Order: sequence, then structure tokens, then C-alpha cells
Amino acid sequence: SNSLVWFRRDLRAFDHAALHRALTSSKRVYCVFVYDSEILDELPRDDRRVRFIHASLASLDAELRRLGGYLIVRQGRPLEVIPALAAELQVDAVHVCADYEPDAVERDARMKAALEAEGRQFLSFKDQVIFEKEEVLTLAKGPFSVFTPYKNAWLKRLAAMPETLASYPVDAYAHAFAPPTLPPALPSLEDIGFEPGEPPLPAGMEGAEELFERFVAHMADYGRARDFPSEDGTSRLSTHLRFGTTSIRHLVRTAQQMALSGAGGTGASVWLSELIWRDFYSMILARNPQIVTRSFKPAFDVLAWETGEEADAMFAAWCEGRTGYPLVDAAMAQLNQSGFMHNRLRMVTASFLTKDLGIDWRRGERYFALKLNDYDLASNNGGWQWAASTGCDAQPWFRIFNPVSQSTRFDAQGDFIREWVPALARLGAKEIHAPWLVAGEVLAEKGVVLGRDYPLPIVEHDVARKRTLERFAVVKKAA
Ligand code: FAD
Repeated sequence: SNSLVWFRRDLRAFDHAALHRALTSSKRVYCVFVYDSEILDELPRDDRRVRFIHASLASLDAELRRLGGYLIVRQGRPLEVIPALAAELQVDAVHVCADYEPDAVERDARMKAALEAEGRQFLSFKDQVIFEKEEVLTLAKGPFSVFTPYKNAWLKRLAAMPETLASYPVDAYAHAFAPPTLPPALPSLEDIGFEPGEPPLPAGMEGAEELFERFVAHMADYGRARDFPSEDGTSRLSTHLRFGTTSIRHLVRTAQQMALSGAGGTGASVWLSELIWRDFYSMILARNPQIVTRSFKPAFDVLAWETGEEADAMFAAWCEGRTGYPLVDAAMAQLNQSGFMHNRLRMVTASFLTKDLGIDWRRGERYFALKLNDYDLASNNGGWQWAASTGCDAQPWFRIFNPVSQSTRFDAQGDFIREWVPALARLGAKEIHAPWLVAGEVLAEKGVVLGRDYPLPIVEHDVARKRTLERFAVVKKAA
């Protein structure tokens, strides 16, 4: 029997649930990736994620060929491409790793129906998360909406079922791959209508492993280092997790072993918690698809966000890093220029947009979606609703980040700001966090005239804070 493995956000050829199941159940296994034209059409022609995917497909094809198989790459609407290819290759079943985003769930339901109508199976396997939405429940068998008890239950379940982390081997069953008939001929970026260019970070399985090995060497210090954007203290694996060029089981297994052996210091268990946050937000979205456009806590849907021309101008200043708050502007420059933003800064910029500018979190969420290399609907929505206080287990609405104290705490020397806001590069640690408080002559000596070289603050934090407390008081009354 023949089967087809349809790769989506699982671009690797090791520890792969769908590939393993196909190889162990069929005689001939074909592999395909489809550049979804409906998604591609919406993207800028120099999109960094498309470059990452493109480079990762080359790595996937090379590995499949080493194992005796190959990757078929098509472009079009998956609902047309996959059934047609399944017919052409005469496969009995299409195997996939489950995707939990609402649009993907709907697409897969339609795919299943289309394939079944032609007498083929559509088989979907858990791969992207350790536990799916039904697997970690409260004692009353309900869903969690607060992270810490969820995490405790998650760890307990894993301790009871250590086999959850077992790898899905591929190598040992490689004889089942359908052999390539032609030499490699993957479409180039130009072939799919994009500008040529390098991926924004080392791509593919080897890119992920390189980053992970580097991170493992200093994982022990993660608990401290992760909060400082000028340090290279985090793994930078989020884009790899997004596209599945690494395996979540492999990462959790390593973190767990390092925590148990003591080699990972306290950092390993803190890092494991972050991986659990990822499962948590995936579960929250899978159970509550309405949160894509609505507050997790419905009472917060009454909030009246700022709208109109002035709000639009403020939003543009935020997007372009022209707020006059150096840490916020440096963070937005990092996002715009690299496609990455440090977690601390995602919290700071999201808080600034929603609490200092009073702008709807959905606008910020969409902007991040356009720009982030690691954009993931579940984690991004979770992070935004956390910052806006509308989410599950969110920051309470009366706790409002002060963008200047965040700056003095987490970029004390101003190194991160200097790296991303060249206009302020000559300011010292005392001046750089709030330049409008520094005497004009002192700034001028260092080549900065506010309003000319760098903006004055677009809002006063103390005033904005009061407005936000008033805005959210409505919720208190409604709740
Ligand atoms: P590390 O610190 O090394 O963490 C390891 C992994 O754990 C990450 O790669 C990620 O998969 C996961 N993780 C870490 N923190 C979180 C978290 N708070 N929630 C869920 N998973 C987490 N993460 C995304 O992957 N995609 C997004 O689109 C995204 N948008 C965000 C938006 C906002 C407003 C906020 C506050 C956070 C967002 N995050 C998002 C979470 C987090 O900022 C990134 O995962 C992290 O910065 C990625 O860097 P890293 O891989 O070096 O992380």
C-alpha cells in the first residue's frame, strides 16, 4: 500500500509522529509540502518566514534523500493539490501531524471529507505538543484556565506517562520510502513569486540543533539571563518550534534530564516551564477558538479602546518605533529589522500599546503576526491578551508596566537601546532611559536634539496610567 505524508509545520525527518506511522504501516511512503497560495498571496515578497521555510525544505529534502526518499513540493490550494496528488500516487492514506489553529482545524476537516469521498483515509497524529486539549484536566475533568495548576497537572501526567516523550523513529523504517525518480529540483524563492534572500536565522533541522546545542551549554543560567534583552540568554528556538524543524519531545526530554541530573542548574526547570506555557496556550486556543477576535474573559469586551485619527497616528508611531520611549522604540526596531523580539520586550511593547496608548490589543496582535518570524497564533494571542489583561491568567488590569522602570531594570546600562536606536548611541546609562528628563545642553553635547534626532514622548506615562485605570473601571462594574 502507498501513503502520503503531508508536511505542514513539522519540517523535519526525525522523531516525527506522522512519518513514523506512515513508514510503519505502508510499503511506499511519499512526502509532500504545499506552498499554500492563499497564505502566500497575503505576504510581502521579502517575507522572512517564507525564506525560513524555503531553506528548511531544502534541508528536509536532503535528509529524506539520505534516507532513500524525497520531498515533493507543490504550490496551490491544499484542498485541490493534496487530493489530486493522492489520486496520482494511488495512496490509501494521507498522514499529517495535527494542527490546532481554528483555520487549520477547518481545513483538515474539509480535507478528511474530500479524501474519504474518494475512499482514502486522512490520519492525523499528535506531534506538535506534549499534551493536547483533553489530556490535562482538573480533578473535576474540566479545563484549566490558570497556568500554575495546569503546569503542576501537566508535570504529574508526564511523570505518570513517561512514554509520552518517546521518540517516533524514522531511520529504522527508511526502507519504506518511495525512492526518488529525479534529482532534487525544489522550487526556488523566485519560482514561488518571492525575492531571493537568506533566512533570518539558521534554518532547517541542523539550524535548530546548532541553536539548541549552544543554548544547552548555558541553560543553567537561563533563570537569570532570560530577562535581559542585551544578553543572549534564551534559546531562540521559537521559529524552529513554529515550523517543527525541531521536536518538542526532544527539547522536553533534554530539559528534563538536565533538570534531574543537576547539569541544567535551576535554568532547566525554568525553561521547561516556558515550553509548558506553549502547550498551555495551544490548549486554550484549541478549546476557545473565539479568542482569535474576542477577549478570553467576555466581561472585557466592553472596553472602549481609543480610535480615530489620533489613535491611528499613535499606532503608527508604535509600529515604527517613534514613541519617544527608548526601550519601546528599540524593541520595535528589533522586531522590524530582524523579525525577532525578546520576550521581556514583547510584554513591554504590548503593555505600552494597550495601557499607555489605550489601543486595542487586536491591532498589536495583527502587527506582530505580520512581523514575527516565530508568529504562532496561540502564543501570540495568549501573550497579547495577557498584556492587555483580557486573557486567561493575565496581568491584572491595575498592574501597569512603567516603560522607564522596565528600561532601568532590564536594560540597566542601556546596551540594548544603543544597539537598536543609533540616534541615542552616545547617551550614557543615566540619560538613555528617559532622555526628555535630561537637560538640553547635555543631550546636545552628545549630538541629540529631541524632536529632531529622536522623538519627544508621545504620551505621558502618568497621565496614560490614570486614563487606563478609568477605562478598565468599566470592566470592574460589568463583572
Ligand atoms: P525561550 O525563552 O528560549 O523559550 C523556549 C520556548 O518556550 C520558546 O521558543 C517558545 O516556544 C516557548 N515559550 C517561551 N515563552 C513563552 C510564552 N510566554 N508563551 C508561549 N510559549 C512560550 N511566542 C511564539 O512562539 N510566537 C509568538 O507569536 C509569540 N508572541 C508573543 C506575543 C507577546 C505579546 C508575548 C508577551 C509573548 C509572545 N510569545 C510568542 C512568547 C515568547 O515571547 C517567545 O516564545 C519567546 O520570546 C521566543 O524566544 P526564545 O525561543 O528564545 O524563547
